[in-house]
Amino acid sequence: MVSLFKRSDKTNARQLKKYQRTVERINSLESVYEAKTDSELQNASAEFRGLLADGKKLEDLIPDAFAAVREASRRVLGMRHFDVQLIGGLVLAEGNIAEMPTGEGKTLVSSLPAYVRALTGEGVHVITVNDYLAQRDYRQIGQIHEFLGLTVGLNLPQMDTGAKKEAYAADITYGVGTEFGFDYLRDNMAGTNADKVQRPYHYAIIDEVDSVLIDEAKTPLIVAGKMAGNSDLHTVASLLARRFEKGRDYEFDSETKATSLTDTGIGKVEQAFDVGNLYELEHQTLYHYVIQAVRAHVMFERDVDYIVKDGKVLLIDMFTGRPMEGRTLSEGLHQAIEAKEKLEITEENKAQAQITIQNYFRMYPLLSGMTGTAKTQEREFREVYGMDVIQVPTNKPVIRQDLSDRFFDTADQKYRAVAKETAERHRSGQPVLVGTTSIIQSEAVARYLREEDLSFQLLNAKSVEQEVELISQAGQPGNITVATNMAGRGTDIMLGEGVAALGGLHVIGTEKHESRRIDNQLRGRSGRQGDPGSSQFIISLEDDMFRRFAEEDTEKFKKKNFPDAEGEYRGKAVQELSDRTQRIVEGAHFSMREYNLKLDDVINEQRKIVYDLRSRALNGDENGHLLKTMLEDAVSFILDEALPPDGLIEPEQLQTAEAALQELFGGSFRLPQDLDRRKQADARTAQPIAEAGQMIDAQIGHPRVNAVTTNVLRTFIDQMWVKHLEMMSHLKEGIGLRMYQQEDPMRIYQREGLELFTMNFQNLRMKSVTELLSFMRLRESEQKEAN
Ligand code: ADP
Repeated sequence: MVSLFKRSDKTNARQLKKYQRTVERINSLESVYEAKTDSELQNASAEFRGLLADGKKLEDLIPDAFAAVREASRRVLGMRHFDVQLIGGLVLAEGNIAEMPTGEGKTLVSSLPAYVRALTGEGVHVITVNDYLAQRDYRQIGQIHEFLGLTVGLNLPQMDTGAKKEAYAADITYGVGTEFGFDYLRDNMAGTNADKVQRPYHYAIIDEVDSVLIDEAKTPLIVAGKMAGNSDLHTVASLLARRFEKGRDYEFDSETKATSLTDTGIGKVEQAFDVGNLYELEHQTLYHYVIQAVRAHVMFERDVDYIVKDGKVLLIDMFTGRPMEGRTLSEGLHQAIEAKEKLEITEENKAQAQITIQNYFRMYPLLSGMTGTAKTQEREFREVYGMDVIQVPTNKPVIRQDLSDRFFDTADQKYRAVAKETAERHRSGQPVLVGTTSIIQSEAVARYLREEDLSFQLLNAKSVEQEVELISQAGQPGNITVATNMAGRGTDIMLGEGVAALGGLHVIGTEKHESRRIDNQLRGRSGRQGDPGSSQFIISLEDDMFRRFAEEDTEKFKKKNFPDAEGEYRGKAVQELSDRTQRIVEGAHFSMREYNLKLDDVINEQRKIVYDLRSRALNGDENGHLLKTMLEDAVSFILDEALPPDGLIEPEQLQTAEAALQELFGGSFRLPQDLDRRKQADARTAQPIAEAGQMIDAQIGHPRVNAVTTNVLRTFIDQMWVKHLEMMSHLKEGIGLRMYQQEDPMRIYQREGLELFTMNFQNLRMKSVTELLSFMRLRESEQKEAN
């Protein structure tokens, strides 16, 4: 472990030296750019663009371009980039992660790489964690770029297509990551290519890159729409589930809500639906319906979890006991309850498009990021995104004191200690920021502070603007602020007058987070730009982390170690227990992210294929070619499926192949009865394929036929994709529940996911080709008659 850190430190030092040389070069150009008039400086962009067009490498332009931005910033905003900010800019321009603590001015850093990479005109996306910051940075930093003659855009949710297109057409576009991802999904659902808003991806800078790619990337972005499920299946599944008995027909784990069928249960389902093997891929939809029906019966009790009113199922809020209007369960569970209550079955909310944030950003040819805390996640960034983490030196040395952790036996003792510590520091007028992991925890802290008669600001469920306002005041004398780690991110906390002499801002953490990285985010609220400050975590052995990840270990510890009268443990052992547990949590989260990403990789490849086909169909220029390829592929697929590759063909195999080919070529198509080799079958299909090809070429030239082709392809592709996503999600649900003999569930998912895709893609080809060929045949015969 230790040697690894040393090596990474050495690499870091070597890289910094390289950047240092470039910084010296930029500094030496400073007087040149200072001497330029405003209009000369503004002309620099055109000159750079000219040099690029003449074949000059972008990397070679960097010193001049950075010098130009620094000078423009000085004139427009009155801020001259510090040398360390230039280093940060170089790290970003190369497509890596710059680790720079809070207050180092990362926003200004981004102005440098954004400018350089925008010179090629291919677009730069600057990603922030919320709309407020996007707007703020767009307004502030945008001035530098506009002064230098570049265009700057702001991409916000709810903007119309025209406004979005304009934002994306700009040289530099600001916005929130999820919105960029949703635009991608919506573009791939658009009716025409002209309705798409994005350009091809080029380069992105992600602010708070760890938050965006790690913390908030747990759930995928999903565009959903109402669609009919299969109400008959719901009804039959419900009738079955009604007669099921726990332990005999199914197993249910009330803790994890995992539900699975026993062999007896499976036998009953197979009988009811007359299928041979429920676990076969094609029956997994059936399996899903039955499982949801079982859940509807065991997890939901009428008049406790839901009520039935006016023929509708209304869920009940478990905290308030009130019915929640308009809230529904997903994945067909709501419909399963409707079936259980014999109500009319409503439409389901189905995913029409989805992508993970990780896979969205992996589409950018060059990606970069900045944050105060990335080093502990270095390996993940390198493995998943190919980005290195470079620690940039601070402008002034950090003098914040990170005090050692304090440990209490119970949560009550912990909160008492937090309140006492706050009160003591408050007495001298020192500002205190108490950080929590949730709103509920913030409320707990608030109760204890009130007992100490302290007045404080509680940042719960406030608007982003209010949070920013309150957090920015947290360094004023005498202020006590209670906030979750998320509140007011990206806001600078400046110290009020006289606060430095009192020791600066003191930060108290009340629970260890799921990674040391997030603990560091909290500590980093204090001690910005060489300010004095301090931080300390006060936690308890009743905290979630110990309960969920180290129950036994903690019990063992408690048998051997004893707290003092206030419930406090001292010594090395408790610190070791805590560190060990946090490593376990970090490891568990990492594995989960890795697992989910691997799962999504399967869909990701498929999504690329489908979206590429869709976009070409919308384009319409090569519909003839697309259709002919689909026909050829459909035919090979049929022959591959039905016939042995070499060896003799059986009569039934011949029949199967013929029947499938008739769908494509029409009922009069025949394969000779004496055909006994696969090669002969290929030869027999060559002519009808060629004839269809000629007809396609002749017909597709008519604009109307071409338009119909685009429409049919688009409709079928969209239908296929929604269905495929649903089947994939059922598959994912299934692999966790199904029992396998020593086979890795991931491998099963990959294999069966591919099988599903192959099947669905072939269905898409068959449907599209059949539909379009018969349409073309009809037109052809009409045209012949007319002549
Ligand atoms: P970070 O995101 O790294 O925490 P910010 O971008 O919020 O930091 O910047 C912190 C503060 O420092 C802001 O008020 C910003 O305007 C200011 N600042 C940044 N760089 C400079 C500079 N070179 N000269 C003067 N002020 C700066």
